[in-house]
Parts: sequence; C-alpha cells; structure tokens
Amino acid sequence: MDLQEILSRIKQIANSTVKDEAGAIDEKSKWPEASIQALQNAGLGGLVVAKDLGGHGQGLHAIARACEILGQVSGSAALCYGMHCVGAAVIGAKATEQQKEEFLKPIAQGRHLTTLALSEPGTGAHFYFPQTQLLALSGNEFLLNGSKSFVTNGSKADSYVISTAGVDPEAARDEFSCFVLRNDTAGLEWGPDWSGLGMRGNSSKTLVLKDIKVPAQNLLGEVGDQLWYIFQVVAPYFLTAMSGTYLGIAQAAFNEARQHLIGRAYTHSGTTLSQNQLLQHRLGMLWARIERTRQLLHHATREGDGGDPTAVLPILASKAEVANCCVEVVNEAMSLMGGIAYSHSSRMDVLLRDARASHVMGPTTDMLYTWLGRALLEQPVLDS
Ligand SMILES: Cc1cc2nc3c(=O)[nH]c(=O)nc-3n(C[C@H](O)[C@H](O)[C@H](O)COP(=O)(O)OP(=O)(O)OC[C@H]3O[C@@H](n4cnc5c(N)ncnc54)[C@H](O)[C@@H]3O)c2cc1C
Repeated sequence: MDLQEILSRIKQIANSTVKDEAGAIDEKSKWPEASIQALQNAGLGGLVVAKDLGGHGQGLHAIARACEILGQVSGSAALCYGMHCVGAAVIGAKATEQQKEEFLKPIAQGRHLTTLALSEPGTGAHFYFPQTQLLALSGNEFLLNGSKSFVTNGSKADSYVISTAGVDPEAARDEFSCFVLRNDTAGLEWGPDWSGLGMRGNSSKTLVLKDIKVPAQNLLGEVGDQLWYIFQVVAPYFLTAMSGTYLGIAQAAFNEARQHLIGRAYTHSGTTLSQNQLLQHRLGMLWARIERTRQLLHHATREGDGGDPTAVLPILASKAEVANCCVEVVNEAMSLMGGIAYSHSSRMDVLLRDARASHVMGPTTDMLYTWLGRALLEQPVLDS
C-alpha cells in the first residue's frame, strides 16, 4: 500500500467506526477499542514498522497525516493510535532479532498494541529525567521500581515502552534507559480510571512498577544511550503524533464553523451568516491559520523523514504552533457559531475540551519554544 491508499483506508475507518464510537469515547470515557481494532484489522497497526517485518515502512509524515484524519473525528482515537505508532517506532529504532519477532511482527499483523510511558508524577513535564530505578541483577535481569503517569492506552496495550534512570547510581540525570514491558509482566499495578476534562477516551492511567523483573532482552538499545532515542526517535514521533491529532481538532472546529455560517439563516432579513463580510473575513483568517500550520508540520515531517539533521527545529516548532493554532481556532469557531455552539449538545463542547490538552501534554508549548531558542543559540536544549 502506498501512502495515498493508507490514508484513504484511514479516512474510511474514521468516517465509519471512529465516527460511530466518538460519542461514547467522550461521554463515557470509553477507550476507543472498536476504532483501534478496525485500524489493526485493516492492516494499519504496522504503519511505521519496517516493510521486511510486514509493516508499511512509513515515518513521521504518515503519522502526521493519519492522526490529523482521525483527530477530525475523535481526538482520543487519534492519540491512542498515534501513541501506538510512536511506541512501535521506538521499539523499531534499534530492535534486536528477538524484539522484531516478539513485538514488531505482531504489531504489523495487527495482533499487538503498544504505547509510550515516559512521564512520571515526580518529574512531570520533564519527562526526560525519569526517576524509575533500574538495578542490574545477576542472570541477565533488571529490577525496576517507580511509577509512570498519564500512560495513554493505559492497561489496554499489550506492551509499554518505559524509561528508567541510568543503571549506574552516579549516572547523569539525562542518562537513562528504555525498556519494553509486556502487559503480563508480574508486578504492574494500574491506578484508577482517568477522568480527564477532554481526551476522555485516552485511558491515561498511572502505572506503578513495584519490584518488576525484566529480562535484559527487553532493553531497547544500550544502557544509557537514551539521549539518542529522545532526539532521534521519541521526540520527533511523539511531537508529530500530537501535532497531527491537534491539527485535526482545529480542522474539525473550522468545518463546524463553516457549516454553521452556511446554514444559519435569519428570519428578519432572509440572509445567512455566510453573506456577512466580517464573518467571511474571519473564516478566511481561520483557514489561513490552519493551512500555514499544516504546511509547517508537513515541511518538518518531510525533512525529518529525509534525515535532515536540522529537522528538529521545525519539528519542535510544529507542536507548539499546532497547540496555539488548535486552541485559538476552536475558540474563534465557538464565537462564530454563537450560543448554539455554547452547549453540551454541540460538537464544540468536546473540541474545546480536547484542544486544551495540546498545551499541557509534554513537551509543553512553553518548553518547546524555550528548547527552540536554546537550539538556535547553540546552547544545550534540555535543562541541566
Ligand atoms: C491527555 C494526556 C495524555 C498524556 N499522554 C501521555 C503519554 O501517553 N505518555 C506520557 O509519557 N505522558 C503523557 N502525558 C503526560 C504529559 O506529557 C505531561 O508529562 C504531563 O501532562 C505533565 O503534567 P504535570 O502536571 O506534571 O506538569 P508540571 O510538570 O507540573 O508542569 C506544569 C506547567 O509548568 C511548566 N513548566 C515546568 N517546567 C518548566 C520549564 N523548565 N520551562 C517552562 N515551563 C515549565 C509546564 O510547561 C507546564 O505548563 C499525557 C498528559 C495528558 C494530559
């Protein structure tokens, strides 16, 4: 399948299964099981898995496009699928033969869902400073102790890509390691169901890791080489999945506002809002805002897929710009739609709540602009 076929398949699923499930995802905080299954059944579980392992061999650009399509219908479904793809990309970056067989081939066959669990309650938005303790045991095993917060697809996935502190107690704070844990690993304890303001279907749960024994074969890459992972894989894929999702939410809000302007007719004048010059102008500005943000994201993902080392700059900027675009477009669309939109029965209700998560999901907007500035000033990007 080429990218156009992949995207048209995703569109079909978005407009059928995801659309049918979207109401319950938000109202009942339902994890988007049917949507994820439909995507897996359609052969899309392995979007970023290498072709020789049965996947589609796609990269950042495909994730951005896929998440935008899904995000127009359900932010949670987009993020749950996006985080699966991010997890698969992290596993695939330096996978051993055993990891290819155990994780990547089943992912490509639609039999395995994964996700990324980096954030911790103690370090919050500073997800690159994990405090989960890693202790080397004899017999090629490690012992893990700690906790992860806001794990998207929490308790629903078949595996979790987690970060831990460096194995050496003297290791620098940013020297950490990544493991992939199976969901049946003894000792995983899940926190209570999550009730978010928006993104309510994410199943963003806390995971407590208590005396977890993990075989060394589940280590991703080498102990302590995770700064490479952060900048080469985790950040680009994570930022792109979120950017696509929130761009989709902005586009959905625009579509709602446009339909409202066309359909809202006044009885006193016989005119529709679409005939009002001020509203025409404001809608035009919204379209331009979304489109220029989309072009930045597409430029960033194409550069990233092409291996351009400077792609990190537009990738960092994209998520910050998409977050601002998303919140502002949804707000403005709400104003354009008047009192009719200001109701729990309006689609704008869920779009407004979902959009707001864009700024608080790490790396947060403030952090991204700061990192961008540091990179441009040739300073170390992460806090010391
Ligand atoms: C819906 C949702 C889904 C999520 N999914 C995942 C997931 O799948 N995997 C995962 O690992 N995590 C996930 N997260 C966690 C997320 O990425 C953040 O780590 C988390 O939201 C941080 O929350 P906090 O309350 O601890 O923020 P805090 O760390 O308390 O930060 C609060 C504010 O202070 C600001 N701040 C802190 N330090 C600085 C600084 N140095 N410079 C500038 N500003 C600063 C932050 O930008 C933020 O605005 C998710 C979060 C949400 C809400």
